[in-house]
Amino acid sequence: MLVMKFGGTSVANCEAITRTISIVENKLQQKPVVVVSALSKVTDLLYRISDHAALKNRMETSELLDQLRSRHIGLAHDLMSDTPSYCHQACEKINEICDNLDSFVGAVCALGELSDRSKAVIISTGEYLSSNIICCAMNARGIRTGFIDARKMIITSSDYLKGEPDQAAIQAKVPGIVSEAYEGNDAVITQGFVSATSDGEPTVLGRGGSDYSASLIGMAIDASVIEIWTDVDGVRTADPRKVENTKCIEKISFEEAAEMAHFGAKVLHPLTIEPAVHKNIPIYVLNSMNPEGKGTVILQSSFIEDGVKSVSFKENILVINIFSTKMINTSGFLKKVFEIFSENKVSVDLISTSEANISVTVDSSQKIDRVVEQLSEFADVYVDRDKSQISVIGKNIINLRGLLQQTFTPLADCKIYMISQGASYVNLSFVVDRNDLTDAVRQIHKFLFENENCN
Ligand code: ADP
Ligand code: ASP
Ligand code: MG
Repeated sequence: MLVMKFGGTSVANCEAITRTISIVENKLQQKPVVVVSALSKVTDLLYRISDHAALKNRMETSELLDQLRSRHIGLAHDLMSDTPSYCHQACEKINEICDNLDSFVGAVCALGELSDRSKAVIISTGEYLSSNIICCAMNARGIRTGFIDARKMIITSSDYLKGEPDQAAIQAKVPGIVSEAYEGNDAVITQGFVSATSDGEPTVLGRGGSDYSASLIGMAIDASVIEIWTDVDGVRTADPRKVENTKCIEKISFEEAAEMAHFGAKVLHPLTIEPAVHKNIPIYVLNSMNPEGKGTVILQSSFIEDGVKSVSFKENILVINIFSTKMINTSGFLKKVFEIFSENKVSVDLISTSEANISVTVDSSQKIDRVVEQLSEFADVYVDRDKSQISVIGKNIINLRGLLQQTFTPLADCKIYMISQGASYVNLSFVVDRNDLTDAVRQIHKFLFENENCN
């Protein structure tokens, strides 16, 4: 079996969905489990709806809900103009989902209180809309397609907005549910991003989580391959939206891909790799707008050559600097510090320490007020804002002579706040001012990938 995940741009409109359905149609022999995201920008819209609901802005939510409904109804008509009964079926479903959401949002507006659980209900609607429409469109095209509600099989903790998958439960549920949905069908379709607790309470896997859904399903059904269909020709040497002349990487290791994603490359959700590694399932990253392209394959490290593969970045991070003379010659100080991060569920990326100082980087989206407050009880704490983190990723980069020189030469005029090289020798990361980011990433990319003599 095969898992095929299609992201927002691959299901953005009638043209994109028609292309996506053809891609699936060509793979029916491999029994695909199709995983879809919400239509492009729909999840953002749903976030806006939930923000307005929390502020009791009923008028604004109603306008946005109307936009949501009309975009999906319009799409159903565009896709199924030749098959009115399927179009009707899709429209009924869209109206049912939108009516339910409307009542739900109305209730949240009335209360003016938005719990994480309620937010999970709202933001997961996009995937229910897209999967229902695409399921109807596939059936209309003659591909008998079974529908699966991801909440029945992607089981997580009750962290409603970033559920932690229970892999044992997922492994136990998915194969049976998929094979039942396959009965009498040529394909099955389900929602990415969407999940639930074991009691059926709604959760989601976090932004960009559809990739993660695909690899969890792939792991559970022992898929031969997991395909991530997106809007770029595979994994590239840097984010093509930021850097010109990027190149497609033909193959990279699981570890390299995981580090790239973890250190900012949006092309994959950071946790996508882990379930696939368990079962050694290759992941392909492919372009739905260029289905003939080779894309990138992500494989076991033994198939991959040493060397620099890409430059990733996180645009907006914070550096928390912790100073204390009590750190000198005492054991247990680091434990105390990191327990505070852990208790407050703030995850740390880079760490560097000196005699009386620890510096850590965290993503700026995380809430650090409590951490700073608690650390300040026994240390001086300074938070540096408007910083960016750049990571050079590649297998065994420690063996590359001159890598540090090549990386830092173009940054001669940049202030560098922290440098860290992981023990796995897969990444070299450092922190610069946010204002310097674009220039720095472009210069490093030029030096590492666009200069024949240096790579
Ligand atoms: P989808 O909606 O298909 O999940 P995303 O927008 O989440 O697509 O991810 C694809 C985007 O990831 C690309 O358009 C690209 O801008 C960005 N990206 C960031 N880093 C890289 C990289 N190294 N290689 C390819 N794409 C990257
Ligand atoms: N629709 C969700 C998001 O935009 C999940 C995904 O696309 O992967 O974050
Ligand atoms: Mg994505």
